[in-house]
Amino acid sequence: MARVYNFSAGPATLPVEVLKKAQADLLDWQGCGMSVMEMSHRGDEFVSIAEKATQDLRTLLNVPDGYSVLFLQGGAAGQFAGVPLNLMGESQKADYVITGSWGKKAVKEAGKFGDAQVAASSAVDGKFTDIAPRADWQLRDDAAYVHYTPNETIEGIEYPDVPDTGSVPLVADWSSAFLSKPIDVSRYGVIYAGAQKNAGPAGMTMVIVRDDLMGKPQSGVPMVLDYKQQADADSMLNTPSCFAWYMCGLTFEWILNNGGLEGMAERNAKKAKTLYDAIDGSDFYSNPVAPGARSRMNVPFLLADDSLNKSFLAKAEEAGLSTLKGHRSVGGMRASIYNAMPQEGVDALVDFMRAFEKDNG
Ligand SMILES: *Cc1c(COP(=O)(O)O)cnc(C)c1O
Repeated sequence: MARVYNFSAGPATLPVEVLKKAQADLLDWQGCGMSVMEMSHRGDEFVSIAEKATQDLRTLLNVPDGYSVLFLQGGAAGQFAGVPLNLMGESQKADYVITGSWGKKAVKEAGKFGDAQVAASSAVDGKFTDIAPRADWQLRDDAAYVHYTPNETIEGIEYPDVPDTGSVPLVADWSSAFLSKPIDVSRYGVIYAGAQKNAGPAGMTMVIVRDDLMGKPQSGVPMVLDYKQQADADSMLNTPSCFAWYMCGLTFEWILNNGGLEGMAERNAKKAKTLYDAIDGSDFYSNPVAPGARSRMNVPFLLADDSLNKSFLAKAEEAGLSTLKGHRSVGGMRASIYNAMPQEGVDALVDFMRAFEKDNG
């Protein structure tokens, strides 16, 4: 079967060039006679793979000196615990700004380890369609950090810029918009992201942490979640997720070869505009999110007539447009259009939407 356009929210589509490279390398990585999955993580071959991936990520994001880049396991959800365990410090206080489902999960988890407060939430009747205005955030001066979710994957809500939290370190779950555009790392205390949205396969979590925030974890922190111990061990305190690390490295190379994060930002803006214009230009489709807070990565949209959802999904699947079902909490459809989704995929989706409206509108 031909490859489909895969709009899955995660694990998500990967660049074909990356998959082909992995395929070519699979049985025999660069003449060493074995696959990346089979080699020792302490051997020269894998260490060179890990070092290159780490350096390429630093280059892509322009990570300044004074920050460590970690490649860990446990997913972004593991960092819901990792962040408070490493950062809450003496004050035991952390402020969370909630824009959707993942932020809610993050604050709930942090509450197990200290005083994690919801400093702001944009929920109205339990639903999220916007960002809480910065002026309404109830931040505490003695909080150890402020946590937010730059892109809420389920609701399709994205911050257009980085919020200012003064001298309190800003922590961000960048999972679903990681590497989608340039960001100023120096604005952050910690950035973390699960790979399976925009950077590689599942099983890898990247953590970028300002060095002065490491080394004062809560007592009882599991060693695999201890940033300082992991940084000192080059993320190899125990066996890392070797193949996922390698795949992330291939994706970083692909981004570097395709205009870097500026190139990604340009492509992503164009894809998002194509899709939102199609939704806004029709009464048949709608997107519930406030225009200034719409995600460039995850685009939920509803059909005016709910009863057509099943038929829309079935016909889309026939047309090679896969995994468009919306999250059950939002309903309707969701198209995730990460870096690896080409403009042609979005064009094909929009053409299909117009044809479906014509037949059913
Ligand atoms: C997918 C996602 C998560 C959960 O990631 P896991 O790797 O499954 O733990 C957390 N936050 C955001 C924003 C996500 O999109």
